[in-house]
Amino acid sequence: MGYDLAIVGGGIGGSALAITMARAGARVLLLEKSTAYEDRVRGEWIAPWGVTEVKQLGLYDLLRAAGGHHLQQHITYDESRDPASSEAAALALGMFAPGVPGPLCLGHPLHCQTLFDEAARAGAVCLRGVSVEAVRLGDKPSVTYMHDGQRVTAQARLIVGAEGRQSLVRDAAGVALNQDKPHHWFAGLLVRGVEGWDDARQAIGTEGDFGFLAFPQGGDTVRVYGGYALAEKGRFHGADGARRFLDAFRMRCAPQNDSIAAGAPAGPLFSYFNNDSWTEAPFAPGGVLIGDAAGWNDPINGLGLSITYRDVRMVSDILKHTPEGATPDFRPYAEERAERMRRLRFAGQLQAALDMEFGEAAKARRRSYHERSAQDQTLSFHAVAILAGPENLPPDAFTEAHRARVLNG
Ligand SMILES: Cc1cc2nc3c(=O)[nH]c(=O)nc-3n(C[C@H](O)[C@H](O)[C@H](O)COP(=O)(O)OP(=O)(O)OC[C@H]3O[C@@H](n4cnc5c(N)ncnc54)[C@H](O)[C@@H]3O)c2cc1C
Repeated sequence: MGYDLAIVGGGIGGSALAITMARAGARVLLLEKSTAYEDRVRGEWIAPWGVTEVKQLGLYDLLRAAGGHHLQQHITYDESRDPASSEAAALALGMFAPGVPGPLCLGHPLHCQTLFDEAARAGAVCLRGVSVEAVRLGDKPSVTYMHDGQRVTAQARLIVGAEGRQSLVRDAAGVALNQDKPHHWFAGLLVRGVEGWDDARQAIGTEGDFGFLAFPQGGDTVRVYGGYALAEKGRFHGADGARRFLDAFRMRCAPQNDSIAAGAPAGPLFSYFNNDSWTEAPFAPGGVLIGDAAGWNDPINGLGLSITYRDVRMVSDILKHTPEGATPDFRPYAEERAERMRRLRFAGQLQAALDMEFGEAAKARRRSYHERSAQDQTLSFHAVAILAGPENLPPDAFTEAHRARVLNG
């Protein structure tokens, strides 16, 4: 049987697209490699503009019913100011997208499973434990895979690459992946038993040689990340690595972090080097890429899910508006995505330079930035782009002149 769409990868993007297109009446095949979703230290925080995308896709109630948890307040701590001053400058997170109370958090494995199950309910053919052997694009697209000991070749009008950073569909499409240089190490851990942390309050901060981010997941569970210099590759290796990682959260400038340090690891500690990647045109005849397969933003911004949901909305809109038998035109998607990722790359570079560089010069620069941006809010436009969406800021917030104003004073 032929499908309208064969989607390789049943993570966030693949399953969300499968739901959307199956609900629209398309014949969808969804192929997922894993047999169970596991904590791989992946996105669990959806920015307010990403929540708007989720709503537009008709998936908001589904994610809320699965346990999606809103955050309402943000605090930036810093070694150059006392905790009370940081807390007095708390930012309300409900002002960045209409009708969205703040970022939405949901554990990644549960998030994936919720979407995958909904795709099956919507009528997509959803397979797990699949090993994809070959992807063919062009005028007769097909995907060959092993499932339950059987080799199957499925024909589809379009093959979608939604299988994350390592993408077979991207290779088959001959789409080059551009990558910039890694900036810092970024490790993540889920922590339980965090007593006394307001579960609607997220926080970030930098002190000494460590920058942290904390995103409560509801109850006493918090997803935490820590950034450190590239030269310190093995800093949290070894059997007691997770304990040493949690101890790094104890900071004079953020005394609340002691409750994180007193918590217990509830998943693996994985470290990644943070960088950006992008593709010029995430499509080819017979194939299109969404999510990380099309290029990812530095996770310091926490925007991979929002980017992926925007991709799903744009690609599904194009498919729904393509007349039966016509070839979908993905150029508007490619153009929008190129500018979106350029702006977010710029925002990520500024955020990383401010929060994940260490030593006296970096400390002085952060201090100057915090003092000046309290008086001139245009200096924090890159941070607003992260929360409100990059298209909602003026173009000159993404120029070298703006970078110089932020970093050099
Ligand atoms: C440390 C870290 C922290 C992050 N934090 C955040 C955050 O807080 N907020 C945020 O928005 N984003 C965050 N991200 C990014 C976010 O996790 C990703 O951008 C997002 O998950 C991309 O979704 P996706 O569907 O493209 O890929 P994935 O979620 O990676 O899903 C890909 C799926 O494809 C499957 N697959 C892979 N290969 C194959 C194959 N050959 N055949 C079939 N199936 C295959 C995988 O098993 C997986 O289920 C973070 C990333 C990192 C590394």
